[in-house]
Amino acid sequence: MELIKKIEELKKEKNAIILAHYYQNSEIQEIADHVGDSYYLSKIGQESDAEVIVYCGVRFMAESAKILSPEKTVLFPVYTEAPCCMEFMVNENELEEFKRQNPTAKVVCYINSSTSVKALSDVCCTSSSAENILKNIDADKIIFIPDRNLASYVAEKVPEKEIIPWAGCCNIHDKVKMEDIENYLDTDITIVAHPECTKEIRDASHYVGSTSGILSYIKNSPEKEFLVLTEKGIHHQLKKDNPDKTFHFLHMICGSMKKTFLETVAESLETFKGEVTLDEDLRKKAYIALENMHKLG
Ligand code: SF4
Repeated sequence: MELIKKIEELKKEKNAIILAHYYQNSEIQEIADHVGDSYYLSKIGQESDAEVIVYCGVRFMAESAKILSPEKTVLFPVYTEAPCCMEFMVNENELEEFKRQNPTAKVVCYINSSTSVKALSDVCCTSSSAENILKNIDADKIIFIPDRNLASYVAEKVPEKEIIPWAGCCNIHDKVKMEDIENYLDTDITIVAHPECTKEIRDASHYVGSTSGILSYIKNSPEKEFLVLTEKGIHHQLKKDNPDKTFHFLHMICGSMKKTFLETVAESLETFKGEVTLDEDLRKKAYIALENMHKLG
């Protein structure tokens, strides 16, 4: 309680807000001003009139907040410890070469990527906005980086576009195998999956959607028992929304999402530890891709 009180006081003193992803530790979701998926949080960060944003998530999220709000102080106290694995699955040189090989294609880049990769992309997307972006983008041929599973998911939704997938994936979602879920098949348990899961898992699920899509689907479903195939941190919001429903999870835990604690947030607010700084040229280029995401998404 002492720590929570201290965080509240520091927030007032610094005119700060705390943004947290649904995969964060429960204690962080409880103290956050806004909890959401990466699309929602990127908009909230930009629209807020707070001077300081403490970001509780993984590195690309904090960098995206800084790209969109360069005038704000963005604090991400676990900068070196908490990247998303997909930030390393495509680099600038590989992407430039791929663009040369596909000169008529536009690049749609999952937001889970580094700032320098965003800077080389035409538009970013999140799992909740990818389908709209693919429909609305002014191109028939699209290089989709870096998640091959999300690429194949949106390719099914938007068959009129030619999608050239990259070979990356989320190590947490991609590792789910059919044998992990076989005990749940042909039971009364409803299976919901994130599009970062493989096609065979998606095809075996009753519903596939982004983190916010999964939350909304379960909230509105008359069913009472679910196997949830995404990161386990979502359980906190699911229980809040659906106290009468039962949830099963596999061991899907993103280590980078669990690096932030109350102590981390308090220290960062007090000392500005983890202030995000970006090269301005790179930031401006990446800004275009993120702005396009908001326009097309
Ligand atoms: S769960 Fe996967 S996609 Fe999400 S932050 Fe962790 S590694 Fe990245």
